[in-house]
Amino acid sequence: MARILVTGGAGFLGSHLCDRLLDDGHDVLCVDNFFTGSKRNIAHRLEHPYFELMRHDVTFPLYVEVDQIYNLACPASPVHYQHDPVQTTKTSVHGAINMLGLAKRLKARILQASTSEVYGDPEVHPQPEGYWGRVNPIGIRSCYDEGKRCAETLFFDYHRQHNLDIKVVRIFNTYGPRMHPNDGRVVSNFIVQALRGEDITIYGDGRQTRSFCYVDDLIEAFVRMMGTEAGFTGPINIGNPGEFTMIELAEKVLALVGGRSKLVFRPLPSDDPKQRQPDIALAKSVLDWQPKVALEDGLKETIAYFRRTLDGAAA
Ligand code: NAD
Ligand code: UDP
Ligand code: UDP
Repeated sequence: MARILVTGGAGFLGSHLCDRLLDDGHDVLCVDNFFTGSKRNIAHRLEHPYFELMRHDVTFPLYVEVDQIYNLACPASPVHYQHDPVQTTKTSVHGAINMLGLAKRLKARILQASTSEVYGDPEVHPQPEGYWGRVNPIGIRSCYDEGKRCAETLFFDYHRQHNLDIKVVRIFNTYGPRMHPNDGRVVSNFIVQALRGEDITIYGDGRQTRSFCYVDDLIEAFVRMMGTEAGFTGPINIGNPGEFTMIELAEKVLALVGGRSKLVFRPLPSDDPKQRQPDIALAKSVLDWQPKVALEDGLKETIAYFRRTLDGAAA
């Protein structure tokens, strides 16, 4: 049994990771400031003898004793990370410094939840880890993109300078149950709109692409990455190479939900990447991993979750 810290553990991905680690028999410390996460995501674990919840903001120092750290704290939806962009950069950068300082004192292995956003609006397609990206440093997405890039820089400098045992995972768009209905990301928006019979909001012409990974596949890759030998740092892409336009996604959601929602077109936010698809050759060879859940199957699970959640909210 390891003592494992999960920052952002009350969020969408973090709560699934806490579940997995508890099921594997570990002692889990979940740290979250509940900015976008919710106690509801982890309520079913609060009575577990090896689960502990701490309300804390990672931009402040944290003194605890653990063996491993997964650093997920950071809002991930553009709507939420742009709400208080200065806090977003602080969370990525100060949060990384504090968690790296903690890992250094404890000699603990630490994994960073980085993002495909480090590639920005990419000219190389699909994106391999060796691509340096095309990121606007002063745009509305920069607080997130540059914050995450700087966090990667800090991880690699702590590795080179202090010999820290680091793991960096670049996550491509991941979806599933426990996304917040107001999260603002495309999968949850489309499903919630379809279930409520509201218009489906397509930003721009809807021909931009994303590649969607189901949460269970991502968590499996996280755990495998944490278990790799010391010295294997990544960065490593984790995502599902199946690539879809936003119009295709909307049509799939509508076909599964039914109902009478219409597609409506809204302005494209600035710096919105036109295409995104992970090159997962490295994950296949080092982690022996590839995603198993097809988009349609993952959407069915997610739709079922939102049906229950929205029915509960209405009751
Ligand atoms: P989420 O918004 O559901 O979870 C983020 C969690 O971090 C929330 O519980 C939030 O309250 C918490 N948090 C935010 N700021 C904090 C702070 N200063 N101190 C402590 N806790 C804080 O988003 P998610 O999709 O679960 O994303 C988790 C991580 O994975 C993030 O770091 C995100 O950047 C990364 N990521 C996610 C995706 C994806 O598609 N889901 C893609 C790329 C990267
Ligand atoms: N830190 C922390 N918990 C610890 C150790 C360090 O939160 O157990 C924070 C502390 O705020 C520190 C930061 O991590 O400023 C970076 O630590 P490091 O040891 O790298 O640098 P220094 O202490 O010299 O600033
Ligand atoms: N998007 C959309 N309608 C929505 C929300 C998002 O068409 O209601 C688009 C958005 O412009 C982007 C894509 O869907 O091109 C993915 O957006 P999301 O916010 O999920 O993630 P990210 O842009 O960070 O990949």
